[in-house]
Amino acid sequence: MLKFDFHVHTCQGDHSEIKIEKAVQILKKKGFDGAVFLDHDAIPRKEKIKDFLIIYGEEVSTSEGHLVGINLKKTIKPLMSSEQTAKEIRKQGGTVILPHPYDYLRIEINRGRLNPELIDAVEVYNGRTLWPWASGKAKEFCEQNKLPEVGCSDAHFYKELGSAYTLVDADPNVKSVLKALKHGKVQAFGSYKPPIIQHFKGGFLKAYNRLFNEKL
Ligand SMILES: [Zn+2]
Ligand SMILES: [Zn+2]
Repeated sequence: MLKFDFHVHTCQGDHSEIKIEKAVQILKKKGFDGAVFLDHDAIPRKEKIKDFLIIYGEEVSTSEGHLVGINLKKTIKPLMSSEQTAKEIRKQGGTVILPHPYDYLRIEINRGRLNPELIDAVEVYNGRTLWPWASGKAKEFCEQNKLPEVGCSDAHFYKELGSAYTLVDADPNVKSVLKALKHGKVQAFGSYKPPIIQHFKGGFLKAYNRLFNEKL
């Protein structure tokens, strides 16, 4: 079994602090064998990394929400429909992953708007999910449509790495991982705990400290 994260953002895009080399060191310590590195509407530059499986991808902004394409040859034009985008990903020989579906507080494609036949796998756990019931709905969607389930951190910061993961029954090479993913030889792990509670906590503490310090 290989431990994999299919959704990690890099500092080559915006809103992420993650450098691929440092992320690989952290992920290796957490027992990971590989990861997908991607950015919003861009594919990160390839880096020379040894002893760790890396697949490059892109989180494409479609007109209906985000769609992840992995193992792509070139970037995909944003703001096409989700159907056109999925077809374009497949045309390039890529794999289509539906990220954070049913997470109503984020830019997601949900409620069967994308034909399940155009989806290769679905994130049933996303480390940044803001809607606590999203995982249950995503699992239901997978069961109804017999789609493989993955768990992904969607990390933008180092501390988020490992917050969700997928075990893949494959040999340690990219081709085998992609084949196993498409055939559902995967198991998703993550938590239902909505991170927004942690965000509120952090924001509240910061505001309280500022107020307290000003009074002094
Ligand atoms: Zn997203
Ligand atoms: Zn993302």
